[in-house]
Amino acid sequence: MEEQCSVRIMGEEYSVRLGSPCQNPAKVIRDGKPYCGMHDPDAVKARRERRNAEADAKWASERERDRRREAILLLTYGISVKVFDQKRKEIREFLETLQAQIK
Ligand SMILES: [Zn+2]
Repeated sequence: MEEQCSVRIMGEEYSVRLGSPCQNPAKVIRDGKPYCGMHDPDAVKARRERRNAEADAKWASERERDRRREAILLLTYGISVKVFDQKRKEIREFLETLQAQIK
């Protein structure tokens, strides 16, 4: 493909009307317009969707972590570390029973 990408770049943004033309050679034609690999609307959309999915996964994982911390605080509220050390086995058994019940 001899054509050049039809995208015009303006700082971080790009537009079809303003800014200076992208210097990359076109790789694909979308709706009759040439685009380089970086500005191909399908690739742009795929990158955006991947970023969104990554952000969602990160948010979900942080929320899971926060909820776990909260759950641990609730479960251990009022129990001293000394008691934990003394009753480690009993506490573990209790937590395993609880886990089995709420799974
Ligand atoms: Zn381009």
